Amino acid sequence: MMQVCVLCGVEYAGLAIAGYQGLCPDHWTKDALREWDRINSARKHLVAGAPDTLTLSEWLGIVTSWRGLCALCQLNTYNSLAIWIPSSGLVAGNVAPLCRACYYHKEHSFLSAMDDVRAKLDIQHSLIAAK
Ligand SMILES: [Zn+2]
Ligand SMILES: [Zn+2]
Repeated sequence: MMQVCVLCGVEYAGLAIAGYQGLCPDHWTKDALREWDRINSARKHLVAGAPDTLTLSEWLGIVTSWRGLCALCQLNTYNSLAIWIPSSGLVAGNVAPLCRACYYHKEHSFLSAMDDVRAKLDIQHSLIAAK
């Protein structure tokens, strides 16, 4: 069965491994497969009816444009694909690479984490003052 490579558009004889069809032997690299996997797992979190057009080559371009770093802290190597605005979907203008910590804060609000620390600092301060 012939397949078309999602990166170079070249036709090749498809390999029958479920979920991994779409990369020609030249582009069948660990890196490309890992990124392809990331797109597919992000797709599972897509809200119903949101657009879903992100291609592997677009995502590889986005990752390169962030120099392989997390888009938020720009310190750590990214390890997840964040859909920025859920209803805008899995599209090139709405995805960013994030590190594990920033991904967590994006999902759970960095501001609430700041408030939690503030509250703990106050307790800590009153405990020390009481001594
Ligand atoms: Zn290819
Ligand atoms: Zn980060």
